[in-house]
Amino acid sequence: MISSLIGEQLVGDAQRLIEGAKKIVILTHMAPDGDAMGSSLGLRWWLEEMGKAVTVVVPSAFPDFLGWMPGAEDILVYDISGESAVCGQIREAIEAADLAICADFNEPKRIGAVGTMLLEVKNERDPKNQQIFRGSPGERKKEEGDLPILMIDHHPNPSDVADVVLSYPESPSASEIVYRLIYEMKGQLSLNAATCLYTGMMTDTGNFAFNSNHPEMYEIVGEMVRLGVDKDAIYNRVFNAYSESRMRLMGFCLYQKMRIFPKEHVAFIYLSKRELARFHFQSGDAEGLVNLPLQIRDIHYSCFMREDKVYPSEEEKAGGSKIKVKISMRSQGDRPVNTFCQEVFGGGGHKNASGGEYYGPLPEAVKLFLENYQRYCK
Ligand code: 5GP
Ligand code: MN
Repeated sequence: MISSLIGEQLVGDAQRLIEGAKKIVILTHMAPDGDAMGSSLGLRWWLEEMGKAVTVVVPSAFPDFLGWMPGAEDILVYDISGESAVCGQIREAIEAADLAICADFNEPKRIGAVGTMLLEVKNERDPKNQQIFRGSPGERKKEEGDLPILMIDHHPNPSDVADVVLSYPESPSASEIVYRLIYEMKGQLSLNAATCLYTGMMTDTGNFAFNSNHPEMYEIVGEMVRLGVDKDAIYNRVFNAYSESRMRLMGFCLYQKMRIFPKEHVAFIYLSKRELARFHFQSGDAEGLVNLPLQIRDIHYSCFMREDKVYPSEEEKAGGSKIKVKISMRSQGDRPVNTFCQEVFGGGGHKNASGGEYYGPLPEAVKLFLENYQRYCK
């Protein structure tokens, strides 16, 4: 017996949106991780078994080590140039949908240009805006209707774009919230759905090494293993799947790039585009690097930065820079890093795992970190 997290009223609201929809588009965050993929694909399998037509869209490529997940081959991956045919397909999928589900992210900014598309379609179809733009209500296209958004997430401060928000920052993964929604709706969990959701629960807790003191989490895992989920095989596929160059990049970071500030218990690593190219950097290769310094005794904060491609959403273009630096921070215990990320790098996230972005040259982002870490890490 799993206790109720979501509550009757919200389960009812989510259920109404789902039952009222035939075509559903599921969106998840940029640089999708195991929980982004797991919550989205888990939802996909469940909803498809309910007879819905489902499209999963990701705003940038997912890493190879998640490519084995059931349904990964059908995902529409936005091309960051914004120019290839798939971008048109994604717009069509959003336009055709009668429900959009945002899984594992809290604000449209986190999905870049796909978020801009979503908001455009939602605004166009909002009856209020149709009155403004298209004249009298009689002229509206009756068959269209609004595009409701259901958000299922565990990041603090959900934006108000969604119509129904299932936001539980106390939950270790979005995948677990999806499981609970299915459970509270008395839905059927297939092996494919369970495999995807398990993967998200496993990766967002570092294989149950942090955020993992919740007894019910193990009841859910037990249920999944009973259903046939092969947790040992999933572990192998996800965590023993580095390329040689990723392993060498890890060595390079730890041996040559890691700076330690013992007084503040801080570790700091940053990588330029050139350094990344030397190790044939692929999407997903940076995953986990920020966690490594926390294995050092007395290191409680870790920051990792890398130069990144620019995702050309309108908002980002307005920033004026062609260079983007991606910042990741981690901490242990009662030492929040989300305020640092939010106030210095315009980002946010969980208390112990946050990130942000800097539009400008890497040395400027590095300088900002060095000027600020003593203030935030204490
Ligand atoms: P990661 O370091 O794995 O990229 O991100 C860790 C967490 O930080 C994410 O789950 C997300 O909550 C948050 N995060 C990362 N980048 C950003 C960002 O640019 N903006 C915001 N608001 N949150 C971010
Ligand atoms: Mn997550």
